[in-house]
Formats: sequence, C-alpha cells, structure tokens
Amino acid sequence: MQPALMPDHSDAVDSAFMRLALDQAHNAWLLGEVPVGAVIVREGKVIATGFNRPIGDSDPTAHAEIIALRQAASLLDNYRLPGCTLYVTLEPCAMCAMALMHARLDRVVFGARDPKTGAAGSVVDLFSEKRLNHHCVVLGGVDAQACSRLLQDFFRERRRQTRPEESARAQPDALPNSVKGIDVQHLDDVEEPSAD
Ligand SMILES: [Zn+2]
Repeated sequence: MQPALMPDHSDAVDSAFMRLALDQAHNAWLLGEVPVGAVIVREGKVIATGFNRPIGDSDPTAHAEIIALRQAASLLDNYRLPGCTLYVTLEPCAMCAMALMHARLDRVVFGARDPKTGAAGSVVDLFSEKRLNHHCVVLGGVDAQACSRLLQDFFRERRRQTRPEESARAQPDALPNSVKGIDVQHLDDVEEPSAD
C-alpha cells in the first residue's frame, strides 16, 4: 500500500489509512481487547500506531488514540502534534477527544459512531465546543461499515463464548479471550455502534 503517493485529504487517502487503523483494531481483538485501532499520519506517512488495550495494560486510559498519541509525541519529541491526522476506527470518547485537542492535531478521522460514549457528536461534541480553545477538523463515517462490523463480530463472538452451554462444549483452546475477563471496558458502550 502506498497511501503516501496519493494526494492529501482525498477520500481514497482517508480510506487507505482507515484500513491501517482497522489492522490495528484486529491486533486488539487477538489480545482479547475490544477492537479499536488508530494510526497517526504526518506528511503522508504513518508515524504512530495504537490499539485498544486497557485490560492487558491494566490501564483505563489505554485507548487506541492515547497509545498512538504517546508514540507520535515521543517520536517527534514534542508534546504537540501539529500537521498530523489521526485515524481511528471508532468515534473518540471524551478523554481521547480532549487529548487530541491538547496535542493540537490538525485532523481527526473516525469510522463508526459510538452512540454511548462518542464525543464527536454522538453524545457530546467536544470538537465543536466554542469555549475550548483548539479545534481539530473532524470527519466521521469513513469506512464506517467495516469498522462497525468488526465491533459487532467481536461482541457476537464474545457472547457466543460466554454462553454457558456453549462454553461447556467448546474446546479450551477456543476460549482465549475469555481468560482476560468478561467485564471489558466499553463492552456495553459500543455493543451496537451505528454505521452512519
Ligand atoms: Zn477514548
């Protein structure tokens, strides 16, 4: 994939980088975490990646966006990230929205909406709150169906694995995710994200 060769800010570029964020989300699933992924792009190149891992890290702040922000800031040796775009598969929560604004990102592009905790218009819209002093350009709904489907598939699989009669029949190997704990943060929050 060569998204760096495409013109900036086109639908095709946004879609290409969202696919990379989706790859990150799959990494989260492999570790039993709710599959949300993010990448940060600067001058057409991915400079940081992140995926949701609050359970594995025992860190309630370890959302995909925060992981990617820390990596990018460390790489650039700068606590602010002007000129950068973050792609994330799920609408940012309030914590991540504020972190993105603190980092002075230029753009935030997200996939599926999160009707329970979304802070880019679904529950609140912090990005357009005039009393806050920095505003990122926000674009939602990029590859929303694919982003939403991944979450729905994850929770469907999760429910199937945690159903007692099915668990009793299943091979132990088939339950890698359940050992990490059932009370996943966000479990209820993003169970039925809309795909608009
Ligand atoms: Zn978040």
